[in-house]
Amino acid sequence: MSKISLPVIAATRKCGSCSKCCEGWLEATIYDKKMHPGQPCFFLEKGEGGCTIYADRPKNPCVDYTCAWLDDPETFPTWLKPNLSNVIITEKKIDNSDLTYYEIVEAGARLDAAVLQWIFMWALKTQTSIMYQLDGKFHTLATPQLDAAIAAVITEKNKKI
Ligand code: SF4
Ligand code: SF4
Repeated sequence: MSKISLPVIAATRKCGSCSKCCEGWLEATIYDKKMHPGQPCFFLEKGEGGCTIYADRPKNPCVDYTCAWLDDPETFPTWLKPNLSNVIITEKKIDNSDLTYYEIVEAGARLDAAVLQWIFMWALKTQTSIMYQLDGKFHTLATPQLDAAIAAVITEKNKKI
């Protein structure tokens, strides 16, 4: 019997009702307005309103930013969507290198044990370096190659907390 080849359709995801990356869990400056923990984006309407300047939002960070859940449906399960899991996962690069790691930021709640367990298992299995936030403070689980570089990033971040 001959096999039928089906076209491979890449899974795509949408932000939908999620606005976690605009709520101040990540730090950014949008036009001249700073966003940081305790200070959501100035242009985010409370409730279901979303971005009030969507068509005119700046390229950096707004248009360019996508979280890892949105970017990589093959890796990150549906239930890790930021507004369901209360974590935002972002792929990051060490300055002046091609080395990457993932930043896991608490977004509205303490990092859940089941979420942390899934992330640890994935990081260990894939030899992926991570920097994760637990109870506000940042920690790392990194390959020897990245350990020192991520530790330096963490020291700076934890100084601000
Ligand atoms: S956190 Fe991710 S899924 Fe949520 S709005 Fe931002 S990019 Fe979209
Ligand atoms: S300008 Fe809009 S897209 Fe950009 S952070 Fe603010 S609410 Fe989000």
